[in-house]
Amino acid sequence: MNRSDSERIQSVLEEAGYSYIEDEAQADILGLVACSVRQKAIDRVYSRIHKWNSWKRNRNLLTFASGCILPADRMKLLERFDLLFDIGEVGELPSMIREYGVTTPGSLRRLSNASVDETAPTAHWDVRPSYSSSFEAFVPIQNGCDKFCTFCAVPYTRGREVSRNSKDIIAEVETLVSAGYQSITLLGQNVNSFGRDRPDSELSFADLLRAIGEIGQRHNDSFKLYFTSPHPRDMSTEVIETIAEFHCLAQQIHLPLQSGDDEVLKRMNRNYTYSDFLKIVEDIRRILPAATIFTDIIVGFSGETEAQFENTRRAMREIGFQMAYVAMYSPRPGARSADWPDDVPHEEKRRRLHALSEELNISGLNYTETLIGRTLPVLVESPDRKNVYFSGRSEGLLPVRIRGAAADLIGKVVPVRITATRPLSIEGELVEGLPFGWAGAEHYDS
Ligand code: SF4
Repeated sequence: MNRSDSERIQSVLEEAGYSYIEDEAQADILGLVACSVRQKAIDRVYSRIHKWNSWKRNRNLLTFASGCILPADRMKLLERFDLLFDIGEVGELPSMIREYGVTTPGSLRRLSNASVDETAPTAHWDVRPSYSSSFEAFVPIQNGCDKFCTFCAVPYTRGREVSRNSKDIIAEVETLVSAGYQSITLLGQNVNSFGRDRPDSELSFADLLRAIGEIGQRHNDSFKLYFTSPHPRDMSTEVIETIAEFHCLAQQIHLPLQSGDDEVLKRMNRNYTYSDFLKIVEDIRRILPAATIFTDIIVGFSGETEAQFENTRRAMREIGFQMAYVAMYSPRPGARSADWPDDVPHEEKRRRLHALSEELNISGLNYTETLIGRTLPVLVESPDRKNVYFSGRSEGLLPVRIRGAAADLIGKVVPVRITATRPLSIEGELVEGLPFGWAGAEHYDS
């Protein structure tokens, strides 16, 4: 979400005459999109602004911050940054900069988009982003969250769920596909509750996927569409069946479990049980047998006992995820659980994290070994430091180390025969003579 917000900020500033540079030491204006949901992230913001403010002794510099900011952090950031704005106000950024008195060429231009509604938290959706990649794009479809998980502050920082207009989403996806983008990801805190805030006038999430699936059919399935993250409570069989219906909808699902213990799930206010979650996984495996399933898990949540942790470990073993992002619980300012005791010792949290990493390595390797000898379509992303290997990723979002690729293949989908595996990644060589592109895969392994 932050990357998508940053692309829109960049776009507004470029429209107003500024240009992006990599080297922050040379910039006239420095800004960041903050996330005060995690304490570590907000600590990084303070250290960054401290550095930037020290540069002001020697040069003219303007700083700004936007993003996901809790009220308590807002006051402190206001004291440190020159400008602080809600992301929905991004259209006003050039005029804020002018009023602040920065005299760069860009600040002398007129504001190009004077019609942006300052009060709308989602007005930034009207801004065409400066996509930071020419082959991979992120499209926001929703802002805010209604779920109120006790460990999370997003509903308090981003507000209640608001769905973006589906016509705008479909138009943005169509534009990206026409421009040759290979990978498009729909973003939202709970993508699969899309449309529920306006049930009489907006598409459901499954209908939105279907509309994008039809774009794929018109464009020879030239791209893969991903979405992150769905909430297990809202994951319908219809969504899974829709993915099966259209080739451009990627066979990859990130479904956050958080805990395999029903009592912990209840205290987290997740509103599903482990057996509800398992039923969704069984549906995915039945309807999309080739899909990879990723998850998020928190270990050491307030009050988590050894027996409750063991239930999570059993769940990991039973499901066999292809990837799990396991985090040690830390209270997040603004979240309900921040008032509860953080009573699992740090060392114990580490032990639990390592135990789940071991489970993940086993299930990961069980999966990646089934890919040996197969030829897969792989999106080439970047060279390694020595230009010997290239990095890419499969449709299932597994990292792939590619031999035999070249720089002119970056951003293209190429056939790769898998020759070696690790638990969470695969390695292979470029195959000559087979068609490129996601749709080319139907000629592989035949
Ligand atoms: S679903 Fe829960 S974890 Fe996700 S954004 Fe909403 S409150 Fe936070």
